[in-house]
Amino acid sequence: MKILALGDTLLRTKNGEDPFKYVANLFFEADLVLVNLEACLLKKNKRYPNVQEKSVLLSTEQESLTWLHRYKEKLVFCLANNHILDYGEEGYEDTVTFLKESGYMYCPIDQHKDFEIKGQVLRVYSLAQHIRHKIEYQEMMLSAPKYESAPGLLNVVMIHWGESQVLMPSLKQIDHAQEMIDAGCSIVIGNHSHTPQPLVMKGTKNAIVYSLGNFNMRSHSVRQQPVHHMPNVVQFTISDSHTIQATQVPALTNWNMQPVIKQEVSGYLKEINRLIPDKLDTPFERFKYKLIYYTHLSHGSILGSISGGWIPRIKKYGISHFLQMLKWMASKRFVIHLILLPFYPLTQPTKLLRKINKLKLNEL
Ligand SMILES: [Zn+2]
Repeated sequence: MKILALGDTLLRTKNGEDPFKYVANLFFEADLVLVNLEACLLKKNKRYPNVQEKSVLLSTEQESLTWLHRYKEKLVFCLANNHILDYGEEGYEDTVTFLKESGYMYCPIDQHKDFEIKGQVLRVYSLAQHIRHKIEYQEMMLSAPKYESAPGLLNVVMIHWGESQVLMPSLKQIDHAQEMIDAGCSIVIGNHSHTPQPLVMKGTKNAIVYSLGNFNMRSHSVRQQPVHHMPNVVQFTISDSHTIQATQVPALTNWNMQPVIKQEVSGYLKEINRLIPDKLDTPFERFKYKLIYYTHLSHGSILGSISGGWIPRIKKYGISHFLQMLKWMASKRFVIHLILLPFYPLTQPTKLLRKINKLKLNEL
């Protein structure tokens, strides 16, 4: 069977066109397409009383999705992420009701879902570290995962995790992915960073892709850069004995948020894959990795959070958010990142990020 995995998706373009128009063939070649739906699907003109206090709220109008039925047989919308409850329980319920009533496949935030493909069962878990309501199922699956093992059953986790704007996962994420694999998960697929992160094969029967990056999305909180236009699309070909082959499809997203296949960028994805060393076992190797990771993270964690998170929130919600920012500035994490910030440009992932951000996108 062939599974295609897609990153952050809003299901809209600037001019109302089908966002998937240039990659539709990829969809039709696959048996199923797993996608991170990072927007509530809301009813036009309806008021949602429990909107969250956040700098960025993501939604798409159900009425605008007239083009979507073309992909009904293929798409599986994974709903667990930090934006699916932006409009409260009502927004989430409307999203689920719309998908259900229109006949779309989806994986909700409170249970796994099975999909039958060619006599095999693909069991999809949609998980997120950032969900604040209805969290019992999420907490259980994140802290002590157990996956059923049965002939013909393949477990896949689509997980929303980690920090944004970085090209590599944290050591915690690397350990967590290994735990999920040890517990019986075959493929771990990550999201949330808005940047591509490494694809790593573990033997022949397990694969991890730490982040699929933006697929049909633009940057909402930080300055838009070429890295936000670089999706990490992964095709998994899985044999009946569950041997897995994973291939990245190089692409760039155009001004209209439509991904377009671009062979020229495949080298960048390969370089990103190499950011996780083969060996990470000894305390020294682990410490070195951690140091590089936190240094690479420091810029987004301090400057990105202030300009993209705190300032818009303070403007929107006032003094209470200003006080929260002061508390954040006194945290240990802030101080560590501040100390590491001067070394940010020296790390390998930062150099690679800067190289990607020199790409010329204007011809897209
Ligand atoms: Zn996210």
